[in-house]
Amino acid sequence: MSRIAAAIEDLVGNTPLFEPVRVEERLGIRAHLLCKLEGQNPAGSSKDRAALSMLRAAEEAGMIHPGDTLVEQTSGNTGIALAAMAVPKGYRCDIFLEAGVTRERKKILLALGCRLRSRGDIPGISKEEVLAHPYEEASLAEIRAYCKAMGPRYHFLDQTTNPNNPLAHVRTTGPEIWRDTDGKVDALVLMAGTGGTLRGLSQYLREKNPKIRIIAAEPAPCSRRCEKNPNCQIIDGVLDFDDHPDHTASYFITHDLYDRCLEVSAKEADETARLVARTEGLLFGTSGAAALSAAIRLAKDPAYDGKNLVVIIPDGGGKYLSSPLYGI
Ligand code: PMP
Repeated sequence: MSRIAAAIEDLVGNTPLFEPVRVEERLGIRAHLLCKLEGQNPAGSSKDRAALSMLRAAEEAGMIHPGDTLVEQTSGNTGIALAAMAVPKGYRCDIFLEAGVTRERKKILLALGCRLRSRGDIPGISKEEVLAHPYEEASLAEIRAYCKAMGPRYHFLDQTTNPNNPLAHVRTTGPEIWRDTDGKVDALVLMAGTGGTLRGLSQYLREKNPKIRIIAAEPAPCSRRCEKNPNCQIIDGVLDFDDHPDHTASYFITHDLYDRCLEVSAKEADETARLVARTEGLLFGTSGAAALSAAIRLAKDPAYDGKNLVVIIPDGGGKYLSSPLYGI
């Protein structure tokens, strides 16, 4: 019995590429929209790859030891992935949540034994300060200060600057896409949070095929939460970057990584998610549905007829059922 997995890490990667042929037919699309279903990773998202990659690198460098606490800032998916990978290895996790994380994600983190953290838990930040800025997330410096105050067994892996985040996609996601398409990829469409997936895949796939078109999608202005519009519907886990100088929206994101950027609203993503659910029977998360919306827009251009567009679907829809995604 050589194919029995004996640890969660053995189940990471090798996610399928799925072509929603019924959606293509209904919309009259002649390109092939090849959706990489990252929600089929064991903890439910593309972040399983990044979390495992960061964890293994820290272990190999002798930086962390069982019993230590791993600290991370996350919209949910990295926290969930890290918590899941950490359990059998004997690490604890303290997770600082970003604003607007769905109830399901918090409950999954709690089920995996995490401690949920917020700015109010950081030494030196007063209750008054937290009340005055309820939407402010803990900054990286504040999380570093938290680890320092908690002692030497607390480690911040920091997905936003850790090179093992994009490397996970150079080493695994990219080669899987190349293998499963027999090297016939004309375009890649994806959104970005830390930009780890964008950086890793752009690097790997351009090296394989310098003519590949990398299309990055970002939330449209109406779907960006800000002080003036705190209750707007967002696209979970991703951010806008095209108007920001290199490395400022996120450390890993630079303009040279992509050929074109398209804006997608949360409403458009919802419509695509519902279409996929009712046509193919699959529940996509919002960022994947948004990336597919961008790919559908591109594919309507006859220049893409017969071409293969790989679309990254970072997670499934199950964690968003309390959000407006499916309108239920
Ligand atoms: N979609 C979702 C739902 C995510 O949680 C994330 C990670 N924050 C992304 C997309 C973007 O992935 P990356 O951090 O690699 O840019």
